[in-house]
Amino acid sequence: MLPLKELSEICSILNCQIIPECSLKEHTTFKIGGKCRALININSIDAVIQLTAFLKKNSIDYKVIGRGSNIIVSDKGYDGVILLIENSFADIKIDGKKVVCQSGAMLASVCLEAQKSGLSGMENLYGIPGTAGGALYMNAGAYGTEMSDVIESAEYIIDGEIYSIKKEDMNLSYRNSVFSENNGIIVSMTFRLSYGNPEEIKKAMRECMEKRSSKQPLEYPSAGSTFKRPAGSYASLLIDQCGLKGLSCGDAEVSTKHCGFVINKGNATCSDVIELCKKVKDIVRDKTGYVLELEPVILGEV
Ligand SMILES: Cc1cc2nc3c(=O)[nH]c(=O)nc-3n(C[C@H](O)[C@H](O)[C@H](O)COP(=O)(O)OP(=O)(O)OC[C@H]3O[C@@H](n4cnc5c(N)ncnc54)[C@H](O)[C@@H]3O)c2cc1C
Repeated sequence: MLPLKELSEICSILNCQIIPECSLKEHTTFKIGGKCRALININSIDAVIQLTAFLKKNSIDYKVIGRGSNIIVSDKGYDGVILLIENSFADIKIDGKKVVCQSGAMLASVCLEAQKSGLSGMENLYGIPGTAGGALYMNAGAYGTEMSDVIESAEYIIDGEIYSIKKEDMNLSYRNSVFSENNGIIVSMTFRLSYGNPEEIKKAMRECMEKRSSKQPLEYPSAGSTFKRPAGSYASLLIDQCGLKGLSCGDAEVSTKHCGFVINKGNATCSDVIELCKKVKDIVRDKTGYVLELEPVILGEV
């Protein structure tokens, strides 16, 4: 049982909003999924420390989410507490060649602040829709740059204890980091960039955005690339070669614009998405021998 009264009292002292039985649909870019037991909008490091310590002590499952742009939430929802780290915990500061931000800052805002200060290195990351925390957890990347190329250090919290970590210890690899192993909640991070020309940086960022909007089905809800890039090929290429563009289950569809994306055409459920992904994986494996792996993180039981 969730000790809602006690949890609400702690949130009130911490000045954090708590929403019991919150629908997670609106907290994901896929617009899919059921409810969690409670969602808490994080506004400080102290809130993460106190709340994770309380939840751990009471054996209540919890998960952190940012913008929800790489999550597929079960139709049954998540039987635990969601700590939402985005706009209420989003400071960004420039310190010479360094950018220091709280983990709820949007990655795009971090890129923009860097650009304004003539700091180069993050141009290709502009346009990845998510928080800095989610991006570091996923080691997000685009057009040849990954978070691992620009991150210097971070602070994270596990069950009420705060730790510092340097890039070398983050085990950053393709869409993976140490945080998926230790369940650490990233609260802040430092990027180390180099000086560049603000106008050239801006131009490179604009070009990235243009490539995205011309190639990706941004007009539909999705979680971005649905499958990881398999060694030696590209998921979208394999899916296309297998003739799977436009394949659908309910309102979940393999995008005809970019077949690496599964999109929600309106009322797709998590079951639709999972069933469609299974079909795609089976056909691709049978026809090409490549085994595709889901990129988004599944939240709840599917
Ligand atoms: C249209 C579209 C395009 C995309 N393009 C790209 C792309 O080019 N490259 C790319 O890499 N990704 C891409 N993505 C996927 C996604 O945007 C990134 O993975 C993003 O970095 C996720 O950030 P988020 O805040 O949305 O994380 P969420 O989706 O909220 O969470 C993702 C994972 O990170 C964890 N997490 C979130 N915040 C924290 C935190 N503070 N501490 C610890 N763990 C945390 C969550 O528990 C979850 O496991 C795209 C998605 C969409 C919808």
